[in-house]
Amino acid sequence: MLIDNHNRTINYLRLAVTDRCNLRCNYCMPSEGINFAKRDSVFTIDELCLVAEILVGQGIEKIRITGGEPFVRKDLMVLLRHLTTLKGLNDISVTTNATLIGPHIDELKQLGINNINVSLDAINRGTFEKITRRNQYDTVHNNLIRLISEGFNVRINFIVLEGQNEQDILPILRLMKHYPVSVRFLEEMPFNGGSKTFQKIKWDYKAILAHITEAFPNYRKLESPATSTSINYQIEGHKSTFGLIPSFSRTFCGSCNRLRITATGDVITCLYGKPKANLREMVRGGNPREKVAQTILATLGSRAKTGFEAQNEHEKVFDKSMTSIGG
Ligand code: SAM
Ligand code: SF4
Repeated sequence: MLIDNHNRTINYLRLAVTDRCNLRCNYCMPSEGINFAKRDSVFTIDELCLVAEILVGQGIEKIRITGGEPFVRKDLMVLLRHLTTLKGLNDISVTTNATLIGPHIDELKQLGINNINVSLDAINRGTFEKITRRNQYDTVHNNLIRLISEGFNVRINFIVLEGQNEQDILPILRLMKHYPVSVRFLEEMPFNGGSKTFQKIKWDYKAILAHITEAFPNYRKLESPATSTSINYQIEGHKSTFGLIPSFSRTFCGSCNRLRITATGDVITCLYGKPKANLREMVRGGNPREKVAQTILATLGSRAKTGFEAQNEHEKVFDKSMTSIGG
């Protein structure tokens, strides 16, 4: 079992499989991209399988595959197939921009990988193309509709960006009201690879809720697990639900149950903190599994209680891009 120094059980791993991406979302990275990791400093699929096995052996019950864009890796399905064989792993999910998932939808269904988070920050084509700096609107739209109609448990991640997509908040709720999906509005964080800095945001979770309340005053709050990062609601008469994720306000840190491993092997115990160890060299150096497991456990012995505390671990907290951390 993985327990941190604040007595929190860690049973959720966010595993990044690449830092590369075929989109250039302007809140995530600069238009020219970032200094992507060299290929040989990124975990191979065999190494990812091994790391996942070790962590599941230590009590990880849920793995979310993220990136960069996970599906830019041609061998991603090899990892996903392996994950479905791991005893004790109850929940495998993927966060994707939905541009490249199409050819894999049938197999994902067969494997029972049902939980797919799709990042979609606009329903208007022009807004989508401006934010992502690419023209993948039709592909994303078609894949999203397919995932929903094939019965996947789809959650849409919508980052609310001042001056860019606030006019789509209500339309996306109206559009999704007929479908059993969850639309989650996230606060923007300054992890954009140095594109811009900010100390405060206009669209915090309270402002988003106030905006929704004006148009849809009749909604109810839903029960959510204690470790959930989203506060969830359902509007009267809507099949969909919506959620607010205070990722910038950080109101949920106290019950955090997650660990992150980047595509290059860094162990990150808090999104806002410094990496605590690197597993890639350990795995490549032929260290026994027990030693890798001990290193992981040791990183949890000095885990910051909150993101605000973790931020003090280093000065350059906001230099990074979310594509290297995994979201
Ligand atoms: N490429 C995939 C995608 O976009 O879904 C997975 C990786 S992406 C880094 C993971 C999540 O981080 C996405 O939901 C994305 O919207 C979110 N994200 C990226 N940059 C962010 C930022 N600056 N603030 C808040 N969320 C961000
Ligand atoms: Fe790519 Fe996801 Fe970052 Fe957009 S948010 S640039 S899709 S990694």
